[in-house]
Amino acid sequence: MANNKGILIIFSGPSGVGKDTVLEVVLEKNKELIKSVSLTTRDIRDNETDGKDYYFVSKSRFDEMVDNNEVLEFAQYGESFYGTPKAPIDKWLDEGKTIILKIEVQGAKKIKKLYPDAVGIFIMPPSMEELERRLRLRGSEDEADIQRRLDIAKTEMESRVDYDFLVVNDSVETASNNVLEIVKSLNSTY
Ligand code: 5GP
Repeated sequence: MANNKGILIIFSGPSGVGKDTVLEVVLEKNKELIKSVSLTTRDIRDNETDGKDYYFVSKSRFDEMVDNNEVLEFAQYGESFYGTPKAPIDKWLDEGKTIILKIEVQGAKKIKKLYPDAVGIFIMPPSMEELERRLRLRGSEDEADIQRRLDIAKTEMESRVDYDFLVVNDSVETASNNVLEIVKSLNSTY
């Protein structure tokens, strides 16, 4: 991504791995980074804010935005749909910003096709048992949704080979420092 264009970082990992917590620390420590806010049709969680964590939209509004070509990529995950609003991304890239897309693996593949220079970081759990424990501890999903997320997680883990960097989230501090080091190296390489 030369010519002073920005850098697109894809940030993925199975549900419950602690992506949001790691990302929160990363964004706190590197104020230059921009996190793209996605659209979702799922219900808002108690700790979430509309417009900050996601744009929470109805399925009909989501479909309308997809039809109007306002969505860069989208994917169904469990029962819900998620998508990246298109307009801000190209603007930020032109401005030379480093942007983080926190998206699942199908979306990541689409982004890699559209932006071959995008860099993928995959956050791994120390083990699948630990992933299940963290997902249950979160307490935000019912049993059926937990099972669905664990099933998706197994498939998602197989996609880790498609990413440029793997970071194990054994502790938030170590994982966020590793991500920050990767970002630093990208900013000085490109
Ligand atoms: P959650 O419901 O736990 O917030 O998110 C479920 C999954 O959807 C996560 O893997 C998250 O990274 C992914 N996701 C969030 N936003 C987007 C998006 O805009 N596009 C795609 N493809 N996945 C997304």
